[in-house]
Amino acid sequence: MVKGVGPQRAELLAKRGIHTLEDLLGYLPFRYEDRIHFTNIRDLQPGGTYTVRARVMSGSAVPSSVRYRRRDAIYHLLVQDSTGSLPCKFFHGGYLEGRLKPGQLLVLHGKVEVDRLRPARIEMVNPQMELLRGEEMDSTEVGRIVPIYEAIGTFGSRAIRRAVYGALQQFDAQPSDPLPPELLQRLGYPSRREALLHTHFPPPDESLDALNAFRSPAQQRLVFEEFFLFQLSLALNRRAIRRENAIAFAVREERIREALKRILPFKPTSAQKRVLAEIAADVERPVPMNRLLQGDVGSGKTIVALEAGVIAIENGCQAALMAPTEILAVQHFLSARRILSRVGYRVELLISGLNPSEKAAARERVRTGEAQLVIGTHALIEEDVQFNRLGFVCIDEQHRFGVLQRKRLMDKAAVHGYAPHVLVLTATPIPRTLSLTLYGDLDVSLLDELPPGRAPIVTRISSQQNLPGVWGFLGRVVAAGHQAYIVYPVIEETKLELKAAIKEFARLSKEVFPKLRLGLLHGRLSSDEKEEVMQGFRRNEIQVLVATTVIEVGVDVPNATVMVVEHAERFGLAQLHQLRGRIGRGEEKSYCILIAPTRMSDEARLRLETMVRTTNGFEIAETDLQLRGPGEFFGTRQHGDLGFDVANPVRDRELLELARREAFQVVEDTNRGPLLQQILGALPPHWQRRYHLARVG
Ligand code: ADP
Ligand code: MG
Repeated sequence: MVKGVGPQRAELLAKRGIHTLEDLLGYLPFRYEDRIHFTNIRDLQPGGTYTVRARVMSGSAVPSSVRYRRRDAIYHLLVQDSTGSLPCKFFHGGYLEGRLKPGQLLVLHGKVEVDRLRPARIEMVNPQMELLRGEEMDSTEVGRIVPIYEAIGTFGSRAIRRAVYGALQQFDAQPSDPLPPELLQRLGYPSRREALLHTHFPPPDESLDALNAFRSPAQQRLVFEEFFLFQLSLALNRRAIRRENAIAFAVREERIREALKRILPFKPTSAQKRVLAEIAADVERPVPMNRLLQGDVGSGKTIVALEAGVIAIENGCQAALMAPTEILAVQHFLSARRILSRVGYRVELLISGLNPSEKAAARERVRTGEAQLVIGTHALIEEDVQFNRLGFVCIDEQHRFGVLQRKRLMDKAAVHGYAPHVLVLTATPIPRTLSLTLYGDLDVSLLDELPPGRAPIVTRISSQQNLPGVWGFLGRVVAAGHQAYIVYPVIEETKLELKAAIKEFARLSKEVFPKLRLGLLHGRLSSDEKEEVMQGFRRNEIQVLVATTVIEVGVDVPNATVMVVEHAERFGLAQLHQLRGRIGRGEEKSYCILIAPTRMSDEARLRLETMVRTTNGFEIAETDLQLRGPGEFFGTRQHGDLGFDVANPVRDRELLELARREAFQVVEDTNRGPLLQQILGALPPHWQRRYHLARVG
């Protein structure tokens, strides 16, 4: 493929999704070093970060402790340039033993600190190091601003740099550019070729600070391009949906208004009314609704979804509600039945936990249309589930489902020649920028008001030592008639962690709360067992529910007013927020107690303090985003999972908004049809793959 990339390295690259020359050029430096101007060793100051060029004088590994393991050794290196000498220290540097020879020329980049043992001396600690081969210097190594790449396995920065350099030589002189000249000119961006060239090997007069902040014109152009193409796919997707036919529902007739009023178990909040009006305005048009309902935990999304379902049913259609877990599906089913069956609607539950004959019967009722509102899990989208006339689809806690699953449920209606109206519910409070990136093809409604009479939740951090006091408090609240959750971290259900909940359940039942009725809920229970426990808890037969995060999503038992989370430092912010959303659902004041060690990482402490400071989901989400970055924010580390290799929606907010405006304009402006075709014709291959996906979604 490229010079410097043998089969072994090609394999490493392939694991990172780098298959072609274009892919390799898309692997951008994460940092740059000024190797035109090196700092003289004489001029180093403690606290600063520098790049120096120096020769090896001596080096040796020293055991770091009595229980010596080679890789734990500290490697001491002494280097010199014409102005002085500099000791360097590498922790876990055993691997360097014997690798460096006196006289070899190095570039070192790192922070200079005062030597703790000899305060008169300075040293460089864990510097990044690159060996300059031979005397005659390669133009990719020094005498320029040099790109630094994250190593891929054993494929180090220096080797990657050479491979990229080679690739750029081989690169097409006139690669197709998906950004039209008119746009480039207006925004002042370089061509694609120049942008790649200058991002990998910046011109000598480029500002190092701008480069390291990813703000050079070349980098900005690449970021913009990525956002622009992504937004273009959203805009196209949106247009495609709008071009489909949906059933236009009657919503203004007296009969329907009456029906909606009849099911309401309480007075809706004004936010709920506003959102329902937005939904009604959508579904009365013969164009599919494609709407996201964002509302913090406890804001009352369910009833809005049920009302939308009733509109569909009153228009002679079926409605479907898909939830991510069986617990949640059953809970929705129970409340829907309570609210709807009373007035004669037929509600059906479809989950895999049903026994075969029940399941077959349920499917039959779905097929014939006898079932009007169908609530379920993934079981709803199994191949042989057929609807009679599906007109409305609601997906709860959307982030748990992939786009493909959403699409599959929509297809259940498509067999009848029209698209269903779609409502997606999410409690993940997504900062606006990110909702633009992720849900840019959806219209957004916001439930920004909690139902009245909610007493605030008091959140406190406490420690293991204080547990007796915490249990005492919990016991008193329960004695007063309320219920409580005790949550243990089981993230992956490894045996070891699962045992914690089970063991603690046994211990708490026997030793701490012998007089109370405790229940245990975790992911390894069967559907029936889970349902039995939940039912016991709903009926207050179980007073204290010892649980893992299976209760994280959606569980609604308003009489529960205390939650104790053990090892709270091990939970993410979004997860803690979701968990805490299980309490504070009634009119009674609620308490959330986060048990954590007194010593923990700064980040863990910040998470817990954020929980104490606020119950506002959006505020929590912003903090979470700052702490974790956008990739992990959505629960995954997968590189490019958000679809971005270069761009970062947090860092590059303004560019995202600019790209969105430009992309939607191109798609919506019918005069620019040829322009759109031109852009699509010039898409780089990886974008063509992505567009395919986007169109599916
Ligand atoms: P979420 O948005 O988290 O899904 P739910 O729909 O489960 O919230 O509602 C949370 C609780 O608030 C439920 O017990 C529900 O019955 C109640 N609720 C919702 N809307 C109102 C309202 N307007 N007035 C009083 N209680 C409400
Ligand atoms: Mg909910």
